[in-house]
Amino acid sequence: MVDKERLDILLQEVIQEARALKIPVSSTIEKNVIVNGRPKKRFGCCRKSRNGFEIEVSRFLLDEAGCSEKIVKGVLAHEVLHTCRDCYEHGMLWKSYAGQMNKAYGYQIKRVNSFAEMGMAGREEKLAESRHIRYIIQCKKCGRQYPRQRFTCVMQKIDAYRCQCGGKLEVFRISDS
Ligand SMILES: [Zn+2]
Repeated sequence: MVDKERLDILLQEVIQEARALKIPVSSTIEKNVIVNGRPKKRFGCCRKSRNGFEIEVSRFLLDEAGCSEKIVKGVLAHEVLHTCRDCYEHGMLWKSYAGQMNKAYGYQIKRVNSFAEMGMAGREEKLAESRHIRYIIQCKKCGRQYPRQRFTCVMQKIDAYRCQCGGKLEVFRISDS
């Protein structure tokens, strides 16, 4: 598990890595990474603060056993890139910087990462159970999951639908318990 002090060090490492590639990350990123215990699905967040930018990670990311430092750094890098000019959204420029970081350092920075990609396979199912979700539509290509409470017409004709990434979908039922 990555603790709070370590997080601040990792943030500085990521900023240096980006600068080494001449990616113009902001010089006004707060030194302390904020850990937020509320989000259940979002891995991190970048906010404009009074003095510049604030980087936040979600507590579950740090608590999950399979989540390595590399993955946490990838989340920090995703957020740090949002501090570049014209990169507050996941536009072309942000994507190109993400590609450069991925290539140089082996990250998997994307607009949206699945739990499986983050070393947390099974988390969607766990969350689903707590929300009475009985079915999950999953993309065969990107792994993205769409939890549903009941069986719907879409699931009946699942081959006619595609994921946002264009991938084919499959449906599975979560066992009753
Ligand atoms: Zn983002």
